Amino acid sequence: MNQNNERVKTEVDNISLVDTHEHIILETERDECAKDFSYLFAHYNSSDMISAGLSPRMMEAIRLPLRQMRIKTYQRRKARRFIPEPTSYDMSLDERWQAMEPFWEMIRNTAYAKQTLITIRDIFGIEDLNRNTYRQLSEAISNSRKPGWYGHVLREKANISMSVVDIQSLEVNREFFVPTMRLDHFINVQSRLDLEVLETESAMTIHSLDDLVKAMQATLKYYKENGAVSVKTGLAYNRVLKYEKVSLHEAEVVFNRIASHLGEGSSWLESKPLQDYMMHQVIRAAIENELPVQIHTGLQEGNGNIITNSNPVHLINLFIEYKEAKFDLFHGGYPYIHEWATLAKNFTNVTADITWLPIISPEIARQLLHELIETVPGNKIMAFGGDSMTVEMAYGHAKMTRQLVTRVLSEKIAEGYLDENEALLLARRMLRDNPASLLKLNIG
Ligand SMILES: [Zn+2]
Repeated sequence: MNQNNERVKTEVDNISLVDTHEHIILETERDECAKDFSYLFAHYNSSDMISAGLSPRMMEAIRLPLRQMRIKTYQRRKARRFIPEPTSYDMSLDERWQAMEPFWEMIRNTAYAKQTLITIRDIFGIEDLNRNTYRQLSEAISNSRKPGWYGHVLREKANISMSVVDIQSLEVNREFFVPTMRLDHFINVQSRLDLEVLETESAMTIHSLDDLVKAMQATLKYYKENGAVSVKTGLAYNRVLKYEKVSLHEAEVVFNRIASHLGEGSSWLESKPLQDYMMHQVIRAAIENELPVQIHTGLQEGNGNIITNSNPVHLINLFIEYKEAKFDLFHGGYPYIHEWATLAKNFTNVTADITWLPIISPEIARQLLHELIETVPGNKIMAFGGDSMTVEMAYGHAKMTRQLVTRVLSEKIAEGYLDENEALLLARRMLRDNPASLLKLNIG
């Protein structure tokens, strides 16, 4: 059995975290939907239950109180996400629990469920989620809708000093959050309608590929002037991460075809050269604005996606071409963890950010952190990104990450690989100094 080093544990527990990645909803929107137990099932758990056999439409009925918030979130992000119709709009709390219970029991073994149980125990004082406690949990969640709740959870409970939040909004509470912004909607252009959305946002007219690039550049400039600390891309949910070097001409042909049609749009194969071209332009704009690019690699949240699309090795041509860029690769590239680690080792412009992995698999995160410590310079490893929609689950993630870092560093000391002081220095770098420096955060 592993033995935690007490000095490491105390130190790691006391580090005020810099959190590279969250999707935490605005507190006002949160207070509208935090009504009952379903509040903790916005994602992750729900995907495991659907994987276990729960129907997606029943899942929507169970978490009906979240529906408006989730629709708003995807709209803000201009993401093409399909949210199924619920099987029913009027199930009682008891009926919704009963529909979920067998599937919750089935996923108890997964790390998402472990994170949930840590969260409800430490935040709401409830030991387990089962038929005897769901009403009590629902009441506790409903009672937590009060001013100061975010500060209570993020600062007093989770000890997070600053979180980068990816909700495609600059209107985040700057006491706790700084925004990252996506430009994926400038890349993933498929129809005249998509162009009109971009014209509205940028307040520019877009008649040519050149106009599209200029609108993207102006939009990024605006994001940066209003506090964005990075560019985020989540396109591994929609397409392969291979962005070929295409000629202006090839991209223009696609643009012109899209611009001259009303609504039918282009197919993936037709639009790929334009997308590839625009991703290169986005990276150049990020370099110009001195912003890092945070890239989703590996597992896609949800069900039924194409994992090979998100293999981080597809990105190598970008790393070779854009030496001045800063690529922050997310999620350990799971399951491509070894390839992912070698990219951070090999390329000066790539950093290794394990956000989300500690709650996907604590064991894989443990192995990967050992590997990173042995292979990647200590200024390039980032260990915490809560990747949650709620502050409460971000707390659970922070706790699991502290356990992970404490365990791995204790093991490294026990093996004689690190001494205590080296381990403590690494802990501070991975959990605070490295992300603060990459994202240029002023955290005192
Ligand atoms: Zn995320």
